[in-house]
Amino acid sequence: MSVSQEQKITSTPTLKEEQIPQKRQSQISNLLRRKDFRSVVKILQTDNKSRTNYQKLKYQNQIYHVGQNLCISGDNRSIYVAKLIKIVKLYDDEDNCLPFIKVRWFCRKTELAGLSKDCLDCISENEVFKTNEFDYIEIESIVGLATILSFEEYDQIEELYDNVFFTRAQYVNEKLLPPFQQWKKVCICKKPANPDLKYIFCDLCQRWFHLKCIGLSQDQAEKINKYICPECKN
Ligand SMILES: [Zn+2]
Ligand SMILES: [Zn+2]
Repeated sequence: MSVSQEQKITSTPTLKEEQIPQKRQSQISNLLRRKDFRSVVKILQTDNKSRTNYQKLKYQNQIYHVGQNLCISGDNRSIYVAKLIKIVKLYDDEDNCLPFIKVRWFCRKTELAGLSKDCLDCISENEVFKTNEFDYIEIESIVGLATILSFEEYDQIEELYDNVFFTRAQYVNEKLLPPFQQWKKVCICKKPANPDLKYIFCDLCQRWFHLKCIGLSQDQAEKINKYICPECKN
């Protein structure tokens, strides 16, 4: 009896060692449930089987490359925009494959903090700002590719698509770069153009004017063939 007791006792340390992976596995399950993918990556990325150096991935018949911009689905059905930075394929202790992507977020108008209403009025719903915020997210969050144009390029396109955005600045540490005051201005009100608003183009100075600022209705504006702005008339 006493021998068997002893064996039980001496076998305990080995049992404990075997429990470590199990403990880690349940920790990983918890992190996955909380969608804390950053911590999962931290734990598993140094494991032998895990790979972190992929350049492309295939999801729903589309191939995505590192460096491309993506539309990402948010919790409340909103679409976020992010740059694909890294593709990782991890394996947990039960050999489940856990693929993630690392992204760098672009923020949209609603996420800009501390801007006046005047300033927000000049920012488009389709405008994005590169941030210095990174995340690991699930591949299933990818909606598709996003196109990010310069303001000038966006201004030229005839038709708008859901996945086409433009950018005039970055948003780092809650500050726009270049600052709002330095953005190119239009109209007699001297504000940056918001492509969501209605404008008319002056045929002489080739600049845009808000219909509101020059007192034209949309109907009136549509009937004008060649518009000459108040500044060119003087
Ligand atoms: Zn104006
Ligand atoms: Zn003019």
